[in-house]
Amino acid sequence: MDPDFQPDVEALTRALSLMHEGPTAAHPKALPTALPEKGVSSRQAMEWLAPHVFNSAAYLDSELAAAHMDPPTPWITWATTQWNARLNQNLLHPATAPTARPLEHQVVSWLAPYFGMTGGHMTPGSTLANLTALWAARDCAGVTEVVASDMAHLSIAKAAKILGLTLRQIPTDTMGAMAEDALPSDLTRSALVLTAGTTSTGTVDPLALSGLAAWTHIDAAWAGPLRLTRMSSRLDGLEKADSVAVSAHKWFFQPKESALIFFKDVSKAHEAISSGGAYLAAPNIGVLGSHGAMAVPLLATLMAWGREGLAARIEKCIHVAEIIANHVSQDDRLELLAWPVTGVVNWRPKDPRLFDGWYQSLPQGMVSTTTLRGEKWFRNVIANPSANASAITDAIKAVHL
Ligand SMILES: *Cc1c(COP(=O)(O)O)cnc(C)c1O
Repeated sequence: MDPDFQPDVEALTRALSLMHEGPTAAHPKALPTALPEKGVSSRQAMEWLAPHVFNSAAYLDSELAAAHMDPPTPWITWATTQWNARLNQNLLHPATAPTARPLEHQVVSWLAPYFGMTGGHMTPGSTLANLTALWAARDCAGVTEVVASDMAHLSIAKAAKILGLTLRQIPTDTMGAMAEDALPSDLTRSALVLTAGTTSTGTVDPLALSGLAAWTHIDAAWAGPLRLTRMSSRLDGLEKADSVAVSAHKWFFQPKESALIFFKDVSKAHEAISSGGAYLAAPNIGVLGSHGAMAVPLLATLMAWGREGLAARIEKCIHVAEIIANHVSQDDRLELLAWPVTGVVNWRPKDPRLFDGWYQSLPQGMVSTTTLRGEKWFRNVIANPSANASAITDAIKAVHL
């Protein structure tokens, strides 16, 4: 047997301690400029690569990490991701994934009811979940156009383009929510896409519009997991949709790439997006061919925390966002865009000339920027339950320009 395919427990233990150490003082030794003709052994490759991977990484669990929708991940996902790498199950084939397929089914069936859906499947991100949903919309409901707000995620425009559907963009109000009165009156050939937590401002579109079109898809990539919390009612209306996309690598704290697409009528939707093939024992559902057991870390996380443990972490993020918003609204130098509904806080200095100076003075990884109606805003996204509200507000207070 080739030893490189056998568990080298000592080396794997060393891999864990490298991960635990994180950044080291060791200066990374330059990588080969071209594919090496001869390898250096797995152990040496690991030691060589580690400082390149860890030394200048962004640590998403840092108390100041509050800039993007990328969460830190719990250790149970690190462990189970190793198991996945070791087994390398392919969910395309029941024969190579005799346990991974039922485990995905299990986690989907736990989560679907929170969104008023009957089932679905996992995808590597909501970009693909949105594409999958609009594919089902086209082939189940015969839609010819996608209607979405001008704040909808880029993936909606991409999906429309790929599927040959016209994209009709609806303007948004000052908070970034779809302006209902700008909707076309005839939606009988439309897939209406409503966003539950826009990427720029975390705004929730009027979800009560669900059900008005031939197909309603809710892009809940960011805020979907709120359904499992005390803030569930902030997404009321979503349960009337035909499909819902949720990124698990955002507020379900999963390693990338992990997301879910749920359908109201899963049998009909899955049938519309299934393909057979000579070598396939089971129909291939959705966009992906080979895909791995991303359900395993999600299932493990939900078993470890239960709904309550998950909700507590998301609610903590919401709380941090509220403390930041409160601080900003009381700081004479600053302006808050709106009270945060889904953990995204947008703010800026009242004097727009100071924007760049502020950006440079704030700790790296604490804010990102976004442009709304041609004006720049800072954006805090609290995807990190270890984000420390006082450390963040102290960093804001410490800026003197
Ligand atoms: C992040 C996001 C997406 C895209 O999801 P990925 O998982 O990054 O592919 C789509 N829609 C919204 C609202 C998002 O926030």
